[in-house]
Amino acid sequence: MKITIVYDNEVLKEGLKADWGFSCLVEVENGQRILFDTGASGLILLHNLDKLSIDPSTIAEIFISHAHWDHTGGLLDLINLNKEVKIYVPSSCPKPVAAREVVSIKGPFQIHENIFSTGELKGVEQSLVVRTKEGLVVITGCSHPGVRAILQAASRLGKVHGLIGGLHGFSEFDLLIDLQLVCPCHCTQFKSEIRRLYPEQCLDCGAGSVLEI
Ligand SMILES: [Zn+2]
Ligand SMILES: [Zn+2]
Repeated sequence: MKITIVYDNEVLKEGLKADWGFSCLVEVENGQRILFDTGASGLILLHNLDKLSIDPSTIAEIFISHAHWDHTGGLLDLINLNKEVKIYVPSSCPKPVAAREVVSIKGPFQIHENIFSTGELKGVEQSLVVRTKEGLVVITGCSHPGVRAILQAASRLGKVHGLIGGLHGFSEFDLLIDLQLVCPCHCTQFKSEIRRLYPEQCLDCGAGSVLEI
């Protein structure tokens, strides 16, 4: 699978813009593509997509982790460009009225053959789980339910290989010990501690980074 960071507090590729928020494009082997979250600003999202040569009209599906503005801000601009887009939201997130098809997710949910939602955890946020040949890759928005709860929910599907996304104030660093890949993004407060503790597993995150797993 391939993950392209489209929107992040940091930037790692020239020409892209950094801004508080998160979005990444998830592409799996069988051709499925899902945009995970949409950042805070539609303008910046579309700018970064353009610089990454990703045509927004080809994005058929969007997965929204939670209702916060820094994850949903670009949604309307994308819907305006592609009225057919299918959107997966956690049940606590208002359904975007402009969208043709919205799937509201409460419990654990299978989206495609190898793509799952943990379900909405603690009434606030869902994480995306992708089954790869290396194991499960978990993608988080801000980890408001807590990394422990997210990893527990994902583990029901198998062994977790990697964790990517916003980890907020997460500091139970021992929980990462069995992971082969950690990519702390967006709102993660303790990026440098995670990098120091897990130098082999830790990858830098920023708009423009591409992870191939
Ligand atoms: Zn949030
Ligand atoms: Zn956030």
